[in-house]
Amino acid sequence: MEYKKNMPVTVKIEDIGNDGEGIGKLDGYTLFIKDAVIGDTVRAKIMKAKKNYAYAHLEEIIEASPYRTEPRCKLHRQCGGCQLQTLSYEEQLKFKQGKIRNNLIRIGGFDADYIDKIMEPIMGMEEPYRYRNKAQYPIGYGKVNGQKELVAGFYAAHSHAIIPNTDCVLGAEENKDILEAVLSYMKENNVSAYDEEAGEGVLRHVLIRKGFATGEIMVCLVIKANRSGLPAQDRLVEKLIGIKGVKSISVSINNENTNVIMGNKVHTIWGKDTIKDTLKIRDMTAEGCPYTGEELTFKISPLSFYQVNPTQTEKLYSTALEFAGLTGREAVWDLYCGIGTISLFMAKRAGKVYGVEIVPEAIEDARENARNNGIGNAEFFVGKAEEVLPDFYKNAGTSEMIHPDVIVVDPPRKGCDAACLETMLQMGPSRIVYISCDSATLARDLKILCDGGYELKRVRGCDMFGQGVHVETVVSLSLKSDSPKIEVSMKPGEDSLYEPQDKGTYEKIKAYVLEKYGFKVSSLYIAQLKDKCGLDKRLNYNLSKKDDPHVPECPKEKEDAIMDAFRHFGLIE
Ligand code: SAH
Repeated sequence: MEYKKNMPVTVKIEDIGNDGEGIGKLDGYTLFIKDAVIGDTVRAKIMKAKKNYAYAHLEEIIEASPYRTEPRCKLHRQCGGCQLQTLSYEEQLKFKQGKIRNNLIRIGGFDADYIDKIMEPIMGMEEPYRYRNKAQYPIGYGKVNGQKELVAGFYAAHSHAIIPNTDCVLGAEENKDILEAVLSYMKENNVSAYDEEAGEGVLRHVLIRKGFATGEIMVCLVIKANRSGLPAQDRLVEKLIGIKGVKSISVSINNENTNVIMGNKVHTIWGKDTIKDTLKIRDMTAEGCPYTGEELTFKISPLSFYQVNPTQTEKLYSTALEFAGLTGREAVWDLYCGIGTISLFMAKRAGKVYGVEIVPEAIEDARENARNNGIGNAEFFVGKAEEVLPDFYKNAGTSEMIHPDVIVVDPPRKGCDAACLETMLQMGPSRIVYISCDSATLARDLKILCDGGYELKRVRGCDMFGQGVHVETVVSLSLKSDSPKIEVSMKPGEDSLYEPQDKGTYEKIKAYVLEKYGFKVSSLYIAQLKDKCGLDKRLNYNLSKKDDPHVPECPKEKEDAIMDAFRHFGLIE
C-alpha cells in the first residue's frame, strides 16, 4: 500500500517519539502523530508522506488510551511547551527513563543488559505542576473574542503570534497578578507593546523569577527604549509592589530586532538588584532522602542562569554530590558551573574546587555566592571549558589542577566540546560526574570517555521538566584501573605528564602500588612525588606559585610505595 498526502489512516499508538509525538505502525510503515498518546487508537490524516514514514494530523480519538489524563491547561495543544500534558505523570516518567536508556544503548553503544543493571529509577516530582521559578511572557497584540487587544501570553508553536494566557500552570501563581498589573498599567498610561514586524513600540517581554525557598520575586521588564526609558514608571512600580513577594523591579533595554529576549544590561528601578534563593542537600542513600542540613543561599540576577525547578534541582545536585564521592580532601573541577551552585556544594565536601563558566556575570555571581556562604576553597575562571581546561593542563595548572580527583561537567544541550573531553581524559581523574539535559549528546560523550579508559558506573534520570519531553540525567564514571587507552587519545609528540608506553603512567603506578601494597594512591600524590624527584619540570614551575593550604601531604607509607613504583618503572635509579 502506498501512503500519500491527505490519506486517512486508523492506527494504534504504540510508542512515543523524542518530541512527545505518538508513533504508530501500519504494515511496517511508521506514522508520527502529534498529540496522540501511547495506547490510543486514532484516526489521522497524512500531512507529509515519505517512503518509510509519514507525519499525520490527529483527527479523532477512536479509543482513548488508559494512560490519557485530563490536561490542566486548555491551551496546551496550541502552545507546544507541554508536549506530554495529556499523558499520565507515571507514564511520562517511564517515557523519560526509556529515552535515557535508548540513547545510551543506540548512541552510546552500551550493552542493554549492562544499562538495565546499573540504571537507577528516575527521580520524579511530587507535584509536576507549578514548579517553574522562572517565566518569560511576551507582550503584544492578540485576539480576544475576535478583537485585537493588548495581551501577555506565549507564542503559538512555530510562530510569533501571541496566544493570551497569564496563568501558565507550570509557573508560580503570582505570575498572573504581576502580568495583569503590567497590562493594566500599559492600558492606563498608553504604553505600547513592541511590534516585532514594525520594530516599534515599547514593552517586549516580562521576566519573572521567584525564589521558592525565600518567596522573593523579581520582575524585569524588557523594553525598546528610544526615548526616556519606561514611561510613567512610578505608576507601574506602585502596582507591582502591592503584590506579595516582589523585592526587585528592573528594566532591560533591548533595541535589537532579534529573537533574543533580554538586552545586555539591566537596571533596577525599585528594590534590590537581585533576589535570593536557598537550596538544600538531601541524603539520596537514606530512606525517604531526608535533608542533611547542608544548605546554601544564592543571589540571582535577571541575566544569570539558575535551574528552573528548585525542588528537583536539590535532588539532582544531591545525587551529583553522592556520585562525586567526596571525603573532604579532593581537588575538583566543575565545568560549565553557572553561578557556582554545584561548585559550592562540592567545595563544602572537597579540598578545593575550580569552576569554569563562559558568562562573566555568572562568575561574578559565583564568587559573590562563595563569599556570602563563607566558602574559601572555590576558585572561578571565566572562559570556555574547552579552552580553560587545556590551558591549565598544558601551561599553567598546579599539580592538583592537572590531576584532579573528580571532574564534574554540566554542559548545555550540545554537550561537551571534543577538546574538553580530550583534556579530561589526559587529566585522568578517578571519577567523572556528568550532568546532562540531553541524553543524546550525553551518550555520544560517554562513548568517548569510555573508549578513553572510563567505566560507566551509575546512571540516574531526574525529571526537572514535568509535562515537557526533556529530561536531566546524572551519571558517574570511574577510571578503570588499567586504562592504556588514555595514551591513545593523545596526539604523538604532545607534551604530556604521561610518559610513553610502559614507563610509569599514572595508572600503571596506581595499579602497581595497589597490587603490591594493597592500597590506593591518588594522582595528586604521584604528581607531588614526581615533582619532588624532578621528573616533571612543568610541575616545578607550577609549585612555586602554589600557596594553597589545602593540598594534602602524601603520607610516608604511600610515599615509599610510589617511590618503589618509580624505581620499578625505571623513572629513578
Ligand atoms: N551547573 C550550573 C549551570 C549549568 S547550565 C547549574 O547547575 O546551575 C550550563 C552552563 O554552561 C551555563 O551557565 C552556560 O552559560 C555555560 N556554558 C555554555 N557553554 C560553555 C562553554 N563552552 N564553556 C563554559 N561554560 C559554558
